[in-house]
Amino acid sequence: VVEHTAHKGWQEALAHVPDVAVVWEKPLAPLTSMRVGGPAEAWVSPQTVQAAERVWCVLQEHQVPWCVLGGGTNVVVSDAGLRGAVIDLSRGFGYLEETPLPEGGALWNVGAGCGTGRVVRRAVDKGLAGAEVLAGVPGSMGGALIMNAGGHEGEIKSVVKQVQAVVQGQCMWIQNAQAGFAYRSSAFPEKSMVLGAHLLLRPGDKPLLAQAVKESQERRRRTQPLTFPNAGSFFKNPPGHAAGRLIELSGCKGWQEGAAEVSVLHANFIVNKGGALASDIVRLARRVRDHVHAHTGVLLQFEVKLLGDFHP
Ligand SMILES: Cc1cc2nc3c(=O)[nH]c(=O)nc-3n(C[C@H](O)[C@H](O)[C@H](O)COP(=O)(O)OP(=O)(O)OC[C@H]3O[C@@H](n4cnc5c(N)ncnc54)[C@H](O)[C@@H]3O)c2cc1C
Repeated sequence: VVEHTAHKGWQEALAHVPDVAVVWEKPLAPLTSMRVGGPAEAWVSPQTVQAAERVWCVLQEHQVPWCVLGGGTNVVVSDAGLRGAVIDLSRGFGYLEETPLPEGGALWNVGAGCGTGRVVRRAVDKGLAGAEVLAGVPGSMGGALIMNAGGHEGEIKSVVKQVQAVVQGQCMWIQNAQAGFAYRSSAFPEKSMVLGAHLLLRPGDKPLLAQAVKESQERRRRTQPLTFPNAGSFFKNPPGHAAGRLIELSGCKGWQEGAAEVSVLHANFIVNKGGALASDIVRLARRVRDHVHAHTGVLLQFEVKLLGDFHP
C-alpha cells in the first residue's frame, strides 16, 4: 500500500496542467519486465514539452518525489509501490523523425518514449549504422540514454549528438560530452527528465547490419532466460570480470528466495519464476552480492535500479 504524500495540493495543481493525463493508484507491476511491485500514487503522462516542464515545476514546488518509468526493463519497483509521481513519456514522446544528411547518414530526432526495437528496425531498414548496438536491448530510448545501454558491439553514447531534457523546470539540450556517459550510466543534472535525443547515424551496409542484429538476437535467445520475467543483467560487470562468471564460480546459480531465482542459464539474471515479490528479488540479489564478495573479494554493483523503499 502506497503511503500517500503529505501535501495534497499537488494533485489539484497537476489536474490543472494542460496536456497531461493522470491516473491515480496505477499498478506498476504490469509495466515492468520483472512483473513485481505495487502501484504508483500518481501516473503522469505529459504530452508536450511545455506540459513536461509544468509537471516538473508542480512536483518540485510541492516537494513530491518522482521518477520516470521508461520500458521498466531495468528496474525493481518496491512491493509497497511508489509515493508521488511516476512519469510516463510513451505517449507524448514516442516520435522518430529523420533528416538525411547531404554527406550521407542521417540525423534522427527520437523521443524518450520511442521503443529501442523500433529504432533498431528502422535503422536496419534504412541501411544506417550505429543503432544496432541496441539490438536485443528492450525498453525505451529514455531508459537507453540514462543507462547508456549497449552490449558487445558498443554503447548508445557513440551515436548521441545531444540529449533534450527538462532540467530545473526548463527544457534544454545537453551535448554528448556533458552527459557523463560511462559504462551503463550517465550523469545528467539531478532530477533531469530526459525527453529525447538527436542521434547521428552513419551510412551502413544493410545486409551486414541485418545480419549483426539477427546474430545478436539469436545469441541472447540462446544464453538468456527470456521465458521468465527478468530485468536483464542484474549486476554490472566489474573491470576485468564478467559478473555472471563470478556469480557462477561462487556457486550461486539456482539460489532462490521465494519465487525469485538466480537463473541456471545465465547467473547474472535473476528471474521471477511466478509470484515473486520485489523483496524476494532484492534479498536474493544482496545475498549473491555478499557471497560473491566473500568468495572472490569483488564487490558487485547493481545495474538494475531499485525504485521505492527497500529494507536495508
Ligand atoms: C531481457 C533483457 C535484456 C537486456 N539486455 C541489455 C543489454 O544487452 N544491454 C543493456 O545495456 N541493457 C540491457 N537490459 C537492461 C535494460 O533493457 C536497459 O537498461 C534499458 O536501456 C532500460 O530502458 P527502459 O526504458 O526499460 O528503462 P527503465 O527500466 O524504465 O528505467 C531505467 C532507469 O532510467 C530512468 N529513466 C528511464 N527513462 C527516463 C527518462 N526519460 N528520463 C529520466 N530518467 C529515466 C528510470 O527512472 C530508471 O532509473 C536488458 C533487459 C532485459 C529485460
